[in-house]
Amino acid sequence: MRTQVAIVGAGPAGLLLSHLLHLRGIESVVLEARSREYVEHRVRAGVLEQGTVDTLVESGAGERLLREGLVHHGIELRFGGQRHRIAFEKLVPGRAITVYGQQEVVKDLIAARLAAGGQILFEVDDVVPEEIEGPRPQVSFTHRSQPLALQADFIAGCDGFHGVCRDAIPPGVLQFFDKEYPFGWLGALAAVAPSSDELIYASNDRGFALHSMRSPQLSRFYLQVAPDEDIEAWPDERIWAELAARLETVPGWNLATGPVVEKGITAMRSFVAEPMQFGRLFLAGDAAHIVPPTGAKGLNLAAFDVTVLTEAFAAWYSSGDAALLDGYSRACLRRVWRAQHFSWWMTTLLHSFDSYDAYDRRLQQSYRDYVCTSEAASTSLAENYVGLGRR
Ligand SMILES: Cc1cc2nc3c(=O)[nH]c(=O)nc-3n(C[C@H](O)[C@H](O)[C@H](O)COP(=O)(O)OP(=O)(O)OC[C@H]3O[C@@H](n4cnc5c(N)ncnc54)[C@H](O)[C@@H]3O)c2cc1C
Repeated sequence: MRTQVAIVGAGPAGLLLSHLLHLRGIESVVLEARSREYVEHRVRAGVLEQGTVDTLVESGAGERLLREGLVHHGIELRFGGQRHRIAFEKLVPGRAITVYGQQEVVKDLIAARLAAGGQILFEVDDVVPEEIEGPRPQVSFTHRSQPLALQADFIAGCDGFHGVCRDAIPPGVLQFFDKEYPFGWLGALAAVAPSSDELIYASNDRGFALHSMRSPQLSRFYLQVAPDEDIEAWPDERIWAELAARLETVPGWNLATGPVVEKGITAMRSFVAEPMQFGRLFLAGDAAHIVPPTGAKGLNLAAFDVTVLTEAFAAWYSSGDAALLDGYSRACLRRVWRAQHFSWWMTTLLHSFDSYDAYDRRLQQSYRDYVCTSEAASTSLAENYVGLGRR
């Protein structure tokens, strides 16, 4: 098999890259370890920055997103028995976020690729990127028990944090920056109308809780829990009781409950691998960097990386100019580190840390107070949350 760009991973990064390359007349084949059914139903992110929405809409894959996505012009912070709205329309006029499930983005992109005759091979095994230093890289893999090799000009490693592409880069080339947090997030999807029109980021002595949503009928919740917490210890009644204890902290506000349709626990971590490229292998999205989901940046960073990579491949194929490819990592890392800082900052602002002493807790309280009372501090949060400009 031969193509121009071999893409490993059919998450948002790999699928969007394949779609954008197609629009520039560049062929690709996507290799995915899981089934189509699995990737189309994996519940994860749901907050799209304006720039991500613009990319999807301009590329023709945003029709359903425009129809079904929920545009939000603010978020609520809730602590100390008070509610404080970060009003995007006032602080960052003209910019907003759109709530639209990652699995819906994935469905739309798969549909767009297949409608255009694109090739996505699901349920491949034993994926190994090879010859990445030379001009003829390839990916060997197994599909339906058959050993195969996909030759390409380039390989895009879009295979997420636990993928194989990052590890294909020889030892000593990459530098890793890593931070683990002393808690995880229990995420629950519930078949109940959201109790709020906007996302609520709440924190009290019991810890952090987020009230989000995926549609007018589906609510999404997160609870700060111990990193090694067992999901079996969280029957639905316990989830609802804990959400109520952390969210029903202002007078007159009640949480509507309903059947929990999906739940799981995710570790919280920050990670960056630098540079995001070696030879003919380019890493994009979670394969190169992850953030704790507090700032809602992971999916948006993945989308940004592949727009930069598309431009770089387009320049190389149209004129043989490798300058953008050579500068790919540098072009992405500036935004990656801004998102790293913002995600760490939101996490630090909103969670309870067992290691905090009385002094640390006062500092956290003071910063929360500052964010709620200073327009400059609120604007900084809003600007980062909706996403900085695309460059
Ligand atoms: C609970 C949770 C909540 C989140 N909330 C948000 C949010 O609100 N906003 C936000 O922006 N981000 C959020 N994120 C992060 C976001 O989901 C990720 O950043 C995003 O999925 C990254 O996309 P990706 O394509 O780079 O990687 P992935 O989505 O991980 O896709 C990688 C793909 O590669 C495949 N793969 C892996 N290994 C191989 C292999 N060896 N061979 C072939 N295929 C392989 C995987 O099956 C997968 O389909 C959240 C994440 C989690 C876990």
